[in-house]
Amino acid sequence: MSAVIPIRAEAGCKVGHDAGHQAGHDATPVLRERGQREVFCGLTGIIWLHRKIQDAFFLVVGSRTCAHLIQSAAGVMIFAEPRFATAIIDERDLAGIADANDELDRVVRRLLERRPDIKMLFLVGSCPSEVIKLDLSRAAQRLSREFLPQVRIVNYSGSGIETTFTQGEDACLAALVPELPAAPVEASASLLVVGCLPDVVEDQFARHLRAIGIADLQFFPPRSSRSLPAVGPNTRVLLAQPFLGDTVRALEQRGARRIAAPFPFGVEGTTAWLEAAAAAFGIEAASVARVTQPARERATKALQRQRAALDGRSVFFFPDSQLEIPLARFLSRELGMRLTEVGTPYLHREHLRQELAWLPAGTQLSEGQDVEKQLDRCRAQAPDIVVCGLGLANPLEAEGLTTKWAIELVFSPVHGYEQAADLAELFARPLRRRALLATETACN
Ligand code: SF4
Repeated sequence: MSAVIPIRAEAGCKVGHDAGHQAGHDATPVLRERGQREVFCGLTGIIWLHRKIQDAFFLVVGSRTCAHLIQSAAGVMIFAEPRFATAIIDERDLAGIADANDELDRVVRRLLERRPDIKMLFLVGSCPSEVIKLDLSRAAQRLSREFLPQVRIVNYSGSGIETTFTQGEDACLAALVPELPAAPVEASASLLVVGCLPDVVEDQFARHLRAIGIADLQFFPPRSSRSLPAVGPNTRVLLAQPFLGDTVRALEQRGARRIAAPFPFGVEGTTAWLEAAAAAFGIEAASVARVTQPARERATKALQRQRAALDGRSVFFFPDSQLEIPLARFLSRELGMRLTEVGTPYLHREHLRQELAWLPAGTQLSEGQDVEKQLDRCRAQAPDIVVCGLGLANPLEAEGLTTKWAIELVFSPVHGYEQAADLAELFARPLRRRALLATETACN
């Protein structure tokens, strides 16, 4: 295994594989497809996770392709002190000439010697590390014995086999749950907001939730690995992201209970999300209405301006981020957009119950993907805007369709009242750009 390499920007690895998850038992008709998929793998999550947990380092144990993928997703960045990198599995490891475990230990020791600021190290598995059956959980245990209490070492898989890109965050957070301290049994009820949020959004939500009357409040993941939230039977979990099924399961095994709620996108989603949290703590919706009134009014006004650009326009979602259903609900109900097809990689009906109920009757949902068939459906619908992965966006643009990269919706601050108009703007901008291009072409 070669040393930790500074990662360079080149083309990443986009995987095609079968979708195999089953949906739940809701009555909403869903087109389920198993075929070629076009998605990024879970390594992509490192891009926003490393910004959030500010004393953590993500060491991908993978190939040059993995290194190129995360650098491509991160954009061209050369850091003085990067907080993610790739330990390259090379031919000597693959041929068994070198012991990959010894090599990994050597790389980790060198990294931690050089970087005393690292307090949590994630060993992130990849397709190559899984193919050679490198046991990163044993490596994490072995290295933890050496480096605790200075550095906590945790492993998870970001492999592209059978995953989509937001599952990287789910796998990371689920791996962290066993590390969370136990809340005292006699502790009063506390709220745990789960899902990676930009600090600015987290601060806004914290202000609202505290003003509503929820004093005991923590966010997961935290900004520092030294402030992991406690969890126990009195913990109430409020999801900020819809793609955290494994994390919720792990938290429930620790006794926590999920609060059923829609997701905080747009004015309506954010209000209902706060109301669900308030109700779980015996606080009336009137308190939420009073506390949030100024922010709601500002956001509603800002959305009115965006509605002029989006009302009546049609949108087609390819399955990618797992944010598709909450976003479709927001675009349809608050901006008047027409939903042609809403694709999602996996449909977690329990976590999306309120969102599904808010979709217009007869919305075409699809789960999984058979990309060629879905492309044909998309072309036949000729939507005004297509939300899809990077791999599909360029060919569709070349065909004259307007696209929005799904990954941008995960990178950008889009939750809550103050970001509602920014979220709408992410859809309005490509439409404006297309209209300008059409005007210029007509003038030339
Ligand atoms: S983990 Fe797999 S899918 Fe992801 S970049 Fe590496 S080889 Fe490609």
